[in-house]
Amino acid sequence: MMGPSHALSGAAAWLAGSWALEHFADYHQSPLAIAVGTAVCAGGALFPDLDLSGKVTRNQGGATVARTFGVFSLFIAEVIEKLSLGVYHATRLSKDPRRNNGHRTLTHTIPFTVLVGWGTTTLCATYGKWAVIGILFFMIGLALRGLFDDWAKRAGWVIVTLVSLAAAWFTFLNLPGDRGYPMIGLAVGVGCFVHILGDLMTRAGVPILWPIPIRRRMWTMVGMPNSIALKTGSKAEVVFVRIGLTVVAVLSAIGLVAPNVLDRFTIES
Ligand SMILES: [Zn+2]
Repeated sequence: MMGPSHALSGAAAWLAGSWALEHFADYHQSPLAIAVGTAVCAGGALFPDLDLSGKVTRNQGGATVARTFGVFSLFIAEVIEKLSLGVYHATRLSKDPRRNNGHRTLTHTIPFTVLVGWGTTTLCATYGKWAVIGILFFMIGLALRGLFDDWAKRAGWVIVTLVSLAAAWFTFLNLPGDRGYPMIGLAVGVGCFVHILGDLMTRAGVPILWPIPIRRRMWTMVGMPNSIALKTGSKAEVVFVRIGLTVVAVLSAIGLVAPNVLDRFTIES
């Protein structure tokens, strides 16, 4: 799947989850908390593809998400890709193929998702608002790049960086400071998980079972058979998947912020 679909799936998952929590568990969140969670989850849903490195020195290549903060994020992508490749080689078994690129390995596993969610929560708990503002800045940047792909391309990475900073600062000023921020860690983790599910729909698949060894393979790629697999950038992905995700996101958002609007459409009994 491409960046915008991943970001949309993260946003839709967080909004639908928040709606379900409010509806069935009476768990209420402020509009700002919902907006922050949605942005962070959309950003988190792009995070695993930061393992697609480009050419840092020439400011080229990488996944869309790697270009969010110009050469800075390209450099991060380079480091994550090489690190992932290192973990791949350190844990591969005799039937795992040789690789010279770490894309779709470590960052596309369940342990990584848990680690990122836990790490984010720990950072926020230890360093409080300053960690929160850093994480928000980074995640909002990724979300902007993914959700508003065309705008981000036209605006360039400097504008994206400045807008993310402003949004993170605004949140910093308005979020209540007297409690931890477990929702931010959860949103990053859920985002990563939703990304893996998205890639699971493709033919190439993801090593979702790592580190469970199966037939002398540690990195078994699990994907869809050719006939039903989503092809990256295909019409099915761009039109149906995105429309479906947008409908889910918009309905959940209306249900959360203005539930009486939806009531008007239900049949009177
Ligand atoms: Zn991916």
